[in-house]
Amino acid sequence: MSAQKPTNLSILGATGSIGRNTLAVVEQFPELYHVEALAGGKNIELLTQQIQKFKPKCVCVLDEKYAAQLKKNVPPNIEILYGPSGYEQVASYSNTDMVVSAIVGAAGLMPTIAAIRSGKDVALANKESLVMAGKIVMHEVNKNNVRLLPVDSEHSAIFQCLQGHQQKDLSHILLTASGGPFRNREISTFKSILPRDALNHPTWNMGQKITIDSATLMNKGLEIIEAHFLFHVPSSDIQVIVHPQSIVHSMVAYHDGSIIAQLGIPDMKGAIAYALSYPNRLPLNQPMPNFFELQSLNFFEPDLNKFPCLSLAYDACNQGKTYPAVLNAANEIAVDAFLNHQIGFMDIPRFIEKALTYHKSENEMDIACILHADQWARDLVKQWIRTNV
Ligand code: NAD
Ligand code: MG
Repeated sequence: MSAQKPTNLSILGATGSIGRNTLAVVEQFPELYHVEALAGGKNIELLTQQIQKFKPKCVCVLDEKYAAQLKKNVPPNIEILYGPSGYEQVASYSNTDMVVSAIVGAAGLMPTIAAIRSGKDVALANKESLVMAGKIVMHEVNKNNVRLLPVDSEHSAIFQCLQGHQQKDLSHILLTASGGPFRNREISTFKSILPRDALNHPTWNMGQKITIDSATLMNKGLEIIEAHFLFHVPSSDIQVIVHPQSIVHSMVAYHDGSIIAQLGIPDMKGAIAYALSYPNRLPLNQPMPNFFELQSLNFFEPDLNKFPCLSLAYDACNQGKTYPAVLNAANEIAVDAFLNHQIGFMDIPRFIEKALTYHKSENEMDIACILHADQWARDLVKQWIRTNV
C-alpha cells in the first residue's frame, strides 16, 4: 500500500467488545490509523491502559466522578470530558476523520448524529441509533455528504454483496442469525431461563446487552430495522434465516435468481476493518473458514412462537414513526431488568408488546419526538416492572 496520511479516529465505546476489537485492528495497522479521541463509560482501568497505549488527545467518560478518577491516572495535557456533551465533543473532534460509533444502546444516538453533523464519516456498530431514528440519521448522512459504513457483521456482509450492483436489480435480503443459545430448547422451559444461560452465546463473543438480544432474537429484529434504513429495503424484502455456524454473514438476492453471500469466520475484526478501510481491504491475517472441516452449513426458518421479539420488530418497522424507538427503549429496560433477576426471560417480549400496544405515535417526527417516545417507554416499562404488572 502506498504511503498515506493516517486516518484519525474517534472511538466511542472504546472499552466495549467492538471498541477493543477496533483498537486491535488499529494496533495491527499503526501506519494507517491514529487514535485522536476515545470515549468509554465506567471502566477507568481499561481506559487508562488504552490512553497509555494509543495516546489520544481527548477522552470522555460517563460522569464527573469517573472523570476525576481518570484525571489522576493520565498526563495533564489530555483533555478529559464527561457526560452527553462530552460524548458529542469526542464525536465531532476537530482533527477526526472517522468516528467509530460503538456505545451500546440509545446513549449512542446523539453522539452518532453529532459526528454526522460535523462532517465525519461514521463506522456504525450502534444499531440502536438507526432503529430509533433511521429516517433522521439517513437524512443527515445525505445532507452532510458523509459515509455511514456498517460494522454490524450482517450489514457489512450485505454492504459487501451490494458492491457493483444496482438497487433496481435487488430482489431481497437474506439476513442470517445464529439462532442464539436456545434454538433447540423446548419452549415450555423458557420460563426458567436465567441470565447466565442467556449470556452463553454459541458463536459470538459480545457485550451483555447484545448477547441477551441474541438469545431473544431481538438482535435480529433490531437488525431488520437497521437494514431497512441502511439499504432502503422494505421489511417484507428482508428475510431472516437461522444459520447456526455463523459463517455466512448474510446474502443478497437479485432479480435474475443469483444470490451473493459474504462468508468468513465469526470475528468482528473483519467487519470493523472493512468499515475502516472501505473501499480497500486490509491484510488482516484472519483465519478463513475450513470447508473440509465444516463439511456442511445449515439453514432453518426462525420459530416465531419461541422468539416473538422477531415479529414485534417487523411490526414496529412497518408501523414506523416512533414505534421502533419504543420497541428499542422497552427492550433496553426489560433486558436490564432480566440481567438483574427482576423479570423472567419471556417477560422481555411481553413488556415490549405491551409498550407498543399502549403507544400512540405523533405525526411530527424530529429528534425531540424520538427522545420523548424513548423516555415515555422507559418510564412505563420501569413502572410495570416495579409494580409487577
Ligand atoms: P459492550 O457492552 O461490550 O460495550 C459498550 C461500550 O459502551 C463500553 O465502552 C461502555 O463503557 C460504553 N457505554 C455503555 N453505556 C454508556 C453510556 N450510557 N454512555 C456512554 N458510553 C456507554 O457492547 P458491545 O458488544 O461492544 O456493543 C456496542 C454496540 O455495537 C451495540 O450497539 C451493539 O449492538 C453493537 N454491535 C456489537 C457487536 C459485537 O460483536 N459486540 C456486533 C454487532 C453490533
Ligand atoms: Mg449482527
